[in-house]
Amino acid sequence: NLITYTQKEHRLPTAEINPSARKIISKLVENGFESYLVGGAVRDLLLGLHPKDFDIATEATPEEIKSIFKGKCRIIGRRFRLAHIYMGNCIYEVATFRGSDPGDRVIKKGQIIRDNVFGSVDQDALRRDFSCNALYYDVMEENILDFANGVKDLKTGELKLIGNPTTRFIEDPVRILRAIRFHAKLGLVLTDEMKQCIINNKHHLAKVPAARLFDETVKLFHCGHMEIAFNALAELKVLEMLFPNAAKIVSTDSHWNDFLITAFRNTDNRLKNGLSVTPVFLTACVLWLEFIPIYHRLCQQGKNSHDALHEAASQVMVNQREVLMIPKAIQNGIRQMWMLQLRFKKMFGKGVYSTLHHPRFRAGYDFLLLRGSINPELAAKAEFWTNIQTMAPEAVKSLIFGKK
Ligand code: ATP
Ligand code: MG
Repeated sequence: NLITYTQKEHRLPTAEINPSARKIISKLVENGFESYLVGGAVRDLLLGLHPKDFDIATEATPEEIKSIFKGKCRIIGRRFRLAHIYMGNCIYEVATFRGSDPGDRVIKKGQIIRDNVFGSVDQDALRRDFSCNALYYDVMEENILDFANGVKDLKTGELKLIGNPTTRFIEDPVRILRAIRFHAKLGLVLTDEMKQCIINNKHHLAKVPAARLFDETVKLFHCGHMEIAFNALAELKVLEMLFPNAAKIVSTDSHWNDFLITAFRNTDNRLKNGLSVTPVFLTACVLWLEFIPIYHRLCQQGKNSHDALHEAASQVMVNQREVLMIPKAIQNGIRQMWMLQLRFKKMFGKGVYSTLHHPRFRAGYDFLLLRGSINPELAAKAEFWTNIQTMAPEAVKSLIFGKK
C-alpha cells in the first residue's frame, strides 16, 4: 500500500535539502541505482524543522557505492554495514536497502543482532522503526514515497511503529528509547497502547549491549527536549533500565527529582542557544544521586574526602558497567567534575588559581550552580566562584591571600 505524494501535495521545502546529499543521490542515480533521501531528514522537513543529518538509502551495495565514490567513501559497521561518504567537511550515511529474506541476518531470541540482507525499497521501508521514518524522497521526481502511512501519522501527530509493536520492540529494544526521543523532540503523541507496550517490553533493554545503550542514552540526553523525555522515562519506568540506582532515588525523593529536571532543563537551554554540550555533564548529574550516599558513608567510616571521592566514584562506575557502558574518557571527565566540587570548598590560597584554570572548570562550575539551585548554602558558596571569574587580578589576589 504505497502512497506517492507529489511536490504539490507534500510541499516539502526542497530548498532546505542539503546540496551534498542531493549530489550523492544524483550520482548514484546516474550510475543506475535507485536512491532516495530517507528517514529523519524527510520527516523533519515535513514538520518544518531543520534536519540534523541527511541520510540516504539506495539499492547499490556498499561495495558498489565504494566503487563510485572511491576515496570519499568508507564502509563501516558490522551489525549494520553501510557507507560513509565524505563531502564538504560532512559525513553522509548511505545505507543499502535491507530485504526480508533470511541471509546474513542474525536473530537471537527475537532480537536482531545483525542485519546485512539486502533488498528492495518497499522491503527496506517495512524494516524501519516508525511510520514517519519510512518516508523516501525522490530528488529527481520530487515525490515522496510513503509505504507505511507516515505522512498521515505526521499530520495527526502520532508516533506509530510499523508492524506489530511488541515484535518490533523485542527485535530491537533500543526503539523504546527512540520512541521517547521522537515523542520529546517532535511532539508526537505516544498513544496509551504504545505506552503500555513500552512498559511491557522495557525489560528487553537489558539485552542491548551496554555500549550501544550508552550511545542511545546520549542521543536522548542531547535531543534538546530532555525535560519532556525525562518525564516519559520516569512515567514509563524506563529510567530504571538505564540508571537503576539513580531511578530508585528519583522515585522516592522529590528533591533529587527537581535536581535532575533542572539539569535537563539547563542542557535543553544550552542546545537551544547553540552552546556546546558533552555527555560528561548529564551523566555526572544522574550518577551523582547514587554517588553522594556512598561518598558520605565512606567519609563517616573515616576516609579522607579525596579517597572517599575516588572510591565512591569507582563503586558507581562498577555498579553502572553491567547496564550501560560509559567509555573510559567520559568516566574520567565525570570524576574530574566531581573532584572539582571538593576543590570549590577551598576558597583561599594558591589552590584557587589552579581550580580556576582546571580544564573542566566550566563544567564543574555549572555543576556547582546546579547543586546550589536546590541547596541555598551551596548557592552562597557558588557566588564566590561566580564573582572571582570577573574580578581584576589584584582584587583576586587580595581576596584569596586574605589582606583582611
Ligand atoms: P535523528 O537523526 O533526527 O535523530 P533519524 O530518524 O534520522 O533521527 P537515525 O538514527 O539517524 O534517526 O536513523 C535513520 C533512519 O534509520 C531512521 O529514520 C529509521 O528509518 C532507521 N532506523 C534507525 N534506527 C533504527 C532502528 N533501531 N530500527 C529500525 N529502523 C531504524
Ligand atoms: Mg538521522
